[in-house]
Amino acid sequence: MRLVLVGPPGAGKGTQAAVIAQSLAIPHISTGDIFRANVGQGTPLGLQAKEYMDAGTLVPDEVTNAMVADRLAEPDAVAGFLLDGYPRNLGQADVLSQQLDASKTPLDVVVELVVDTEHVVQRLLSRGQGRADDTEEIIRHRLEVYASETEPLVDYYRERGVLRAIDGVGSVDEVTDRILSVLKV
Ligand code: AMP
Repeated sequence: MRLVLVGPPGAGKGTQAAVIAQSLAIPHISTGDIFRANVGQGTPLGLQAKEYMDAGTLVPDEVTNAMVADRLAEPDAVAGFLLDGYPRNLGQADVLSQQLDASKTPLDVVVELVVDTEHVVQRLLSRGQGRADDTEEIIRHRLEVYASETEPLVDYYRERGVLRAIDGVGSVDEVTDRILSVLKV
């Protein structure tokens, strides 16, 4: 199964993505995690990404798209994958669609985790400065970037008939059950 998980920062995407990917036995591909690992290791990719991540803005599309294309070409992603944090704007979504259409392996489902802004701000603040980009000012900016750049993907995928909107408020188990029920597994 080829899945995308979309939702605002703090919606619980990372947690849900890990659980869902494990239960479907597909790789969990988080662009944020890949970027953070590269920043941590001081790779050229990490050096390119760091300033954008620290500011809560998107890393340029050509950098991100190339990284994801490489990752999806790895053998473990042939049978399916769960993308978490990608695509993040319409340009990335078009690049992904073209790549998947070329191999006749389109997305099966795009799950939108719906959580209101109050909830996500509280969740992110209670994550407790664990991440460099979890300060209130950067959180606010990441939410603005989500609203302007990423939220249009919801309509994009709805028009293509693959969107499933899930209530993201509740315990981890409750939300996981909701997601698995729309995937019918
Ligand atoms: P995340 O862990 O998904 O919240 O991502 C953390 C940061 O990594 C974001 O604020 C961006 O700076 C960068 N990032 C992650 N995914 C993408 C993407 N698909 N496009 C551009 N930047 C991204």
